[in-house]
Amino acid sequence: MGAARELKFALERHWRGEIDAAALQAVGAELRARHWQAQRDAGLGLVTVGDFAYYDHVANHIQLLGCEPARFGFAPGAPELARYFALARGTTGHDPQACGAGCAHGHAAPEGHAALEMTKWFDTNYHYLVPELHADTQFHLASERLFDEVREAQALGHAVKAQLVGPLTFLWLAKDKGDAPFDRLALLERLLPVYAQILACLKDLGVQWVQIDEPILGLELPAAWSQAFEPAYWQLGKAGPQVLLATYFSPLQDNLRLACQLPVAGLHVDAVRAPEELTGVADWLPGYKVLSVGIVDGRNIWRCDPDAALALLAPIAAKHPGPLWLAPSCSLLHVPQSLKGEERLDGELRSWLAFAEEKLHELALLAALLDGSAQQQGPRLAAARAVIASRRASARVHRADVARRLADAPAGADQRRAPFAARRLVQRTRLPLPLLPTTTIGSFPQTAQIRAARAAHRRGQLPTQDYEAQMRAEIADVVRRQEALGLDVLVHGEAERNDMVEYFGEQLAGFAFTANGWVQSYGSRCVKPPILYGDVARDTPMTVAWTQYAQSLTDRPMKGMLTGPVTILQWSFVRDDQPRSRTCEQIAWAIRDEVVDLEKAGIAIVQIDEPAIREGLPLRRAQWQQYLAWATRAFRIAASGVGNGTQIHTHMCYSEFNDILPAIAALDADVITIETSRSHMELLTAFGDWRYPNEIGPGVYDIHSPRVPGEGEMLHLLRRAAQVVPVQHLWVNPDCGLKTRAWPETEAALRAMVQATRQLRAEL
Ligand code: GLN
Ligand code: ZN
Repeated sequence: MGAARELKFALERHWRGEIDAAALQAVGAELRARHWQAQRDAGLGLVTVGDFAYYDHVANHIQLLGCEPARFGFAPGAPELARYFALARGTTGHDPQACGAGCAHGHAAPEGHAALEMTKWFDTNYHYLVPELHADTQFHLASERLFDEVREAQALGHAVKAQLVGPLTFLWLAKDKGDAPFDRLALLERLLPVYAQILACLKDLGVQWVQIDEPILGLELPAAWSQAFEPAYWQLGKAGPQVLLATYFSPLQDNLRLACQLPVAGLHVDAVRAPEELTGVADWLPGYKVLSVGIVDGRNIWRCDPDAALALLAPIAAKHPGPLWLAPSCSLLHVPQSLKGEERLDGELRSWLAFAEEKLHELALLAALLDGSAQQQGPRLAAARAVIASRRASARVHRADVARRLADAPAGADQRRAPFAARRLVQRTRLPLPLLPTTTIGSFPQTAQIRAARAAHRRGQLPTQDYEAQMRAEIADVVRRQEALGLDVLVHGEAERNDMVEYFGEQLAGFAFTANGWVQSYGSRCVKPPILYGDVARDTPMTVAWTQYAQSLTDRPMKGMLTGPVTILQWSFVRDDQPRSRTCEQIAWAIRDEVVDLEKAGIAIVQIDEPAIREGLPLRRAQWQQYLAWATRAFRIAASGVGNGTQIHTHMCYSEFNDILPAIAALDADVITIETSRSHMELLTAFGDWRYPNEIGPGVYDIHSPRVPGEGEMLHLLRRAAQVVPVQHLWVNPDCGLKTRAWPETEAALRAMVQATRQLRAEL
């Protein structure tokens, strides 16, 4: 994105029509040049070319390999970049830049084309565009972009390593969109000649090394897929420059021998995620091959401990007779760019961190240490050692009270006092709710005024008193509107929250925030994850005053609203000096304190959101059980400090839970609300068949679109829900929070939702 997110801003200007393609491309070229120079300046032997993208690197490959879906109907001469953005963002109508004469919607039917689907890149928070394949998809070399960028880097005098997503990973990540199901692997035969052609072109350009990424080697692959690697790479190994096969994010395990023995010139492995495999790799990798060790963590922001790295590397260097390369564990896309500009972080904390640019220098230091030329690096080594020691011993990192609390946790601290059936009876008397209670997921529209007030307060331009008065007015407004709509369980609306993790992180001990630590999420969108550096504790209440105020305005139950420990963990950069499970448990105890204080303040319902529980799943299924055990335990610790009469809700977005249903039940929330409307309640069928034990609110409308669904539509979904879930267990709510929506559509949709509920109640 650039250190100041230059690419983001240029993209958005281009999409608004303020700058043309040439101006955007000039920004791209400038950023590439700057990033290559940074690699060169740090002393890297090769600069990587091909990892730059105007939206997403997988989308680059869709164009490179000539498999843009036919449904877009692009005109033969449509410019590459216009087609690219049409794929990435969809078109709302006829796009004269991209659409061809044969375009399905034409001028008369301006409904446009839906963008390619987006999904998470392995276990990261980066989203790629999913290639769409059909049984008859043909591939051909269709873009010069990669070769142009290679020429660009060469013209700047760099030694180039070109980079590609491998053919098997590309097919694996694609989705078959044909009417009849077919085997994506069958397309490999057609795809390989195009890869061979690309490699040949790179060779003609004088490129010595091509890195081909096959991270799926870290997954549990069906036999047909793992068996396809060897013949494929026989074909590619011959075609062009030397190939460095790159794997990352996950241990190779049963694919380790395969990865070592493929007919390529080198192998890159992730020594951060799988240090225990390095010896095995050195054993199996033929001596003449390059071994590239991903030693500097590309997924986290901590400075590398040079002594620990050396202890890992030295025996491998001794064992492997061939060339040893040092590299980041994976792409540096997943960390922020540079610590320059983080002067607001205090010096000690800042000294513990390394962002992308600093990581390049860490590589240089490690290389010097390893080849014995460390004398020149003396001061830098001493500085690195001092920093590691300071972090290890810091009183800001380790809090005795937090350690004691975890150690002394009584058995059963993660269990509610009574089982659900008994709690339910108590809650029924405390909360006289109608059949099919209606509620929302927490946030209401975040209007421009709300955002402006928060920003002004943050800058110190709006006194706290005035800010709080404005937020209270907002809460009062939201409460009044909910009462008018006739909702049964109300919320305060979350106007005071910028983000569901940042808001809590800012109030918990152990978190720090950067000024500029942006990481790409998708396209031009970036997130700025908090840095969780130390033991977590909640020293003062975080939400009680707002919630209590909201409750004081109404007789209906006000739902307290918190973010759960797994989600806070998952959306932060977390410590690497203790297991994630332990960090998660610390957050859980902090959230528990808040839940207990809400109960003391008279709040009868508390929702603990865990939208990220599924995305925390390890890449290998063999590790799922272990993760789910500590993740669900953390949630239960947060939820179990209260009496039986307090009703705990949880909420999750995204609809793929079918494979972790038992874990979701193990949360033992009294009520769970989930996203189901886009899948037409399919998910619920799974919940029904399997008999979800507690109460459940399947979302009856999609909040991602401004479209207002009709009452009939929601009634239909509710009737379907009532067929699989006992009506006494059923709640009615939207799919997710409403903060991205505007008021008119929000009120219209909720009005229809309440009407549909009343209709169904009358039928029952
Ligand atoms: N309570 C949050 C909201 O309503 C939940 C958001 C989420 O699930 N991502 O915005
Ligand atoms: Zn949600």
